[in-house]
Amino acid sequence: MSERTINASWVLSGIQDAALANQSIVIDGGKIASMGQGQSQDNGTLVLPALANAHDHARVARVSQVGSYDVPLEAWLPYLTLIPAVDPYLASAVSFGRSARGGVGSVMAHYTRVQGLTDFPTEAKAVARAARDVGIRLAFAVHCRDLNPLVYDPHETLLGELSPSACECVTRRFLRKPLSPADQVAMVETVAAEIEGEGVTVQYGPAGVQWCSDAMLRLIGEASARTKRRVHMHLLETKYQRNWADRNFPQGIVRYLDEIGLLNERVSLAHGIYLRPSEMELIAERGATIVVNTSSNLIVSSGVAPVAEFIKRGCRVAMGLDGLSFDEDEDALREMRLAYALHKASGFDIRMSRDDLMRFAIANGRFAITGEVGAAVTVGATADLLILDWKEMSAELIEPEVPPFDLLLAKAKQKHVKGLIVGGRDVVRDGRVTGVDLPALEAELLAALRAAYPNTADVRAAMPELKAALRKHYTGAFYCG
Ligand SMILES: [Zn+2]
Repeated sequence: MSERTINASWVLSGIQDAALANQSIVIDGGKIASMGQGQSQDNGTLVLPALANAHDHARVARVSQVGSYDVPLEAWLPYLTLIPAVDPYLASAVSFGRSARGGVGSVMAHYTRVQGLTDFPTEAKAVARAARDVGIRLAFAVHCRDLNPLVYDPHETLLGELSPSACECVTRRFLRKPLSPADQVAMVETVAAEIEGEGVTVQYGPAGVQWCSDAMLRLIGEASARTKRRVHMHLLETKYQRNWADRNFPQGIVRYLDEIGLLNERVSLAHGIYLRPSEMELIAERGATIVVNTSSNLIVSSGVAPVAEFIKRGCRVAMGLDGLSFDEDEDALREMRLAYALHKASGFDIRMSRDDLMRFAIANGRFAITGEVGAAVTVGATADLLILDWKEMSAELIEPEVPPFDLLLAKAKQKHVKGLIVGGRDVVRDGRVTGVDLPALEAELLAALRAAYPNTADVRAAMPELKAALRKHYTGAFYCG
């Protein structure tokens, strides 16, 4: 790629909160070759490192599209079955395109929803092609799961609550026999051999401890130690998962992960809302990353992660959108602001500094996704840049010297994204995704989803009964208190 220069009214390097005025950034071979103060290059832009979304699922539909708002996680997960299978390239290209338009240059796609229209390696290739066409960096975490398909305990009692037709539907849809742990883990390497390279990496994606057998988790721990492949999984997202974990792991669920080789700096753990202080300390000591999904946690009623406690104990904390951004628009700038506003301070006591926030939204996520350290706008760094419309952001200033960081925190959102550069390539230019025709793909996806929606009529019919039975399960004997 030939040399090019990006001019900026302001640069936030991502290393500290000081802003550099009137900078010329020279990009060569996908890296920042040089930068320095230019002569009157006040072109109305604010440049910072591209944001990282370290927990997502390349999901095709939003919560409100299938009427699943205000449903707690354990009942919401089955609602995902209402979304019919569609072409995986189309679905992923829309998801990645929306992420890019929201300011994100690197995405962790924990691929929990397999469309299943072809064999899995073929589907994975389509997802990787979508990431390359859009231009974002992708970590594709291959979903592994073989336990607790319906609830975090034996499901026979729950099935007994259902009418014969609902029971038949739930059995057929949710209780298929999984592949063996060895076959699922082997699939990760098969997929990696097919798609790794050119901005795409593959990770082990165990769904979570409550969804994976001990045999499977141990296999993944051993394989990751051998291959150095990274691992991404859910951990302690809800109080029901905490309850299940306490009943099943007397030594503690985090200590268990440590015992089986799944607590080290190759591992990132999504959510962690119900972690205890001693568990946070162990995670910090081992160097694993906790990925916080603020909007998602609020939307599916899981809670608020103790981010200030994570930071205080030295945990590496990153940002995820989990396919559930606050306004269903994949706006990573708003997500960053929401997390900061919730966790920044109590009175004069700072709990999440601006440096912490930059690490959260940028460097720690990029590390979880790519394994590389040092995401910043600095000479020698990878040229992953987010370009915001400073002119519009600053249009209402009365005091002309308000620091750019203040405005970033106060009001930056998706509509201010003018450009996104990943590895030197324009992924978003003038607010539009360059590599694919996103509006056309979005229209095509919506039409495909609507056309295929009758295919899930059986689940829709069973859902009221299933939801009631799940509520009874999670408020019943196992989980009281
Ligand atoms: Zn998730």
